[in-house]
This record gives sequence, structure tokens and C-alpha cells, in this order.
Amino acid sequence: MKRICMIVLCFVLCLCSCSDVYRYTSTEFYSMTTFVNVISDGDGNFDNVENYAKDFENRISRTKSDSEIARLNRDGSAVLSEDTLSILKKSLEIAVNTDGAFNPCLGTLSELWDITSGKEYVPDKGEIETALKNTSYEEVKIEGNKVTLPKGMKIDLGGVAKGYALQKMVEIESSEKDANVCVSIGGNVGVRGSSEANRKNNKDGWNVGITNPFDKNELSGTLTLTKGFVSVSGAYERFFEKDGKVYHHIFDSKTGYPAQSDIASAAVINNDGLEGDALSTALFVMGSIKAIEFYKENKYNFDMILVLDDGDILITKGIKDKFTVNSSAKGIKSDIKVID
Ligand code: ADP
Ligand code: MG
Repeated sequence: MKRICMIVLCFVLCLCSCSDVYRYTSTEFYSMTTFVNVISDGDGNFDNVENYAKDFENRISRTKSDSEIARLNRDGSAVLSEDTLSILKKSLEIAVNTDGAFNPCLGTLSELWDITSGKEYVPDKGEIETALKNTSYEEVKIEGNKVTLPKGMKIDLGGVAKGYALQKMVEIESSEKDANVCVSIGGNVGVRGSSEANRKNNKDGWNVGITNPFDKNELSGTLTLTKGFVSVSGAYERFFEKDGKVYHHIFDSKTGYPAQSDIASAAVINNDGLEGDALSTALFVMGSIKAIEFYKENKYNFDMILVLDDGDILITKGIKDKFTVNSSAKGIKSDIKVID
């Protein structure tokens, strides 16, 4: 009888310790015009993460009238908080390094097109030329914390805000109990540690799905990562169609029109959320030839997955062993090309 009790006790202890190890919980909330999902084996309280996202959005959004950026855009000059200023400075630096493929000064143009408003408005050439006059990122003046914009310019940090906030949210959630965390917001995912399913199967990391740009309901492939950020830019998320043409939300700052390149989606994998977000937007605008040149210039430390319009997939060598293509995905060719 004693032995049976011991066996039962051992079994109960084992169950307790197993469920202790794998106590993952999740939450979902709306911020920055999209859903944020958080999964972690932390203490199950996600208030800190949610509060951060909401405060951040209130500070950075160009459409929230009390935000620092809205004030700057309205008055043409403003004293910014240290954090907002550092985001703007980093964004301007990336604009220089990508020769304007990423440009945080496209606010006037974004406002003109207003892609997500439902208006489905295609501006005429004259309006676009006027809006483009006010997008020279070299002309932003910064003295201490005071930023002054040239007349008519508006800042739009929509291409970096999610990536920056993503990194902060992963840091906040993982700082507690050294938790395993996965946060996703729009096309950006940040991870640390391993998922519950992988740990149960004695594997490491989180499996991050990359959406198939030719069919949003499936994946073009999966990346397994234990640490880092994946930022994806594509024309398939925010767009409208008019007279058989697709108009999406990533602009070519040289033409003022939605970028037309041979890239259907650009994913950047790296260790810096803001940089990854900006670079995925930039690569999408550049097109594959310039994107490969840019990667080889080594200005930033990142890997990339480019899904081209013809279904080819180009990936850089750093993630070769971490990426599995979904060979049955619509429009996707399974023979991946690796860039050295
Ligand atoms: P998403 O916001 O869907 O994740 P991106 O990270 O690619 O996609 O950012 C696109 C957003 O960035 C647009 O909605 C707009 O606010 C802004 N944007 C558009 N074109 C550019 C560009 N060339 N450079 C910088 N920001 C841009
Ligand atoms: Mg981006």
C-alpha cells in the first residue's frame, strides 16, 4: 500500500512540476491600428506590456492629436522627449543609409493618399509633386531636444513604431522571471527562449510563420528562432484596388506612388526591432537587386527573406538552417536561393 502511495505521489509531483515548467498564458489587445499578441511563461499579468503599448502610441502616432509627433507636425517645431527624439534620430540615420528608400518624413504624402481611410482616393500628379516637395529628410533641424521641420513637412514614424515598441514589449515581458516570450504586432514578431510546444518536444526556439504574400491565409515558410525580431513588409496588408490597380501603403519617396518593385514581401531578421522594421520597409522599396547590394554593404547587421513576385525565395546565409519553406504554398517556388 505504501509503495502504491509513493508511486501515486511521484506521479502527482511529476505532473505538478511539468505543468510548472510549461505554464504559458497569452493575451491580445489592439494598439497602433493592429492586434498585439503576447504569449509567455511569465506571471500571466500582461498589464505592463499593454500599458507600454498604449502610452507609446499616444506619444508617437501622427493621427492622435495630442501626441508628440502630431504636435511637431502641427506646429512645425517641438521639444521632444528623449525617447521619441532617439527614435526620430535613428530613423533619419536609416533614411541617409538607405538613400531615402526608408524615409520618416513622408507624413504629407501618407496623409494625401490616406490608404487605410476607405476613401480609395488616387491623388493626381500635381498633388503628389507638391507633397513630395516636403519630404527631404536632410532638412530636419535638431538642436538639443528641439526639432524643427521645414515648412509643409510632416513626420510619419509608421514604418518603425511597431518594431520599436515590439522590442520594448519583449524586454518588459521577459525581464520578469526570465520568461520565454513571443510578441507579435502587425507584420512584426519578437521572440526570446522557446515555445511550449517546442519544449515539450525537446526542441528550442519559437516557430515564426512568414505569411505567403500570394495568399494571406497560408505561410510561405517558417523560421525557428530563440532570440530576435522578424519584421515583414508587403503590399498585401493595407491596400485598396481601383480600376484594376492595387494601391498599397509603402511609398517610393522618389515617385510619391506606392512602391513598385519585384519584391512581394521582405522579411528582416535581426536583433534590433526599430532597425528591422525600417529595413523591411526599405528593402521592399529597393527591389531585389538593390536589396542584395545593400545587404552586402554591411551597414546593418541583419538577415533577410525576400519573396519575389515570380515566387522565387532569396534568403541570406545566416538563416539558411533556420528557415523551412512551405513547398505547397500558392505561388511559391521551393528551391530557395541563398545569398552569401
Ligand atoms: P506595416 O506598418 O504594415 O507593418 P511597414 O513596416 O512596411 O508596414 O510600414 C509602412 C508604414 O510606414 C506606412 O503605413 C507609412 O506610415 C510608413 N511608410 C510608407 N512608406 C514609407 C517609406 N518609404 N519609408 C518610411 N516609412 C514609410
Ligand atoms: Mg517596416
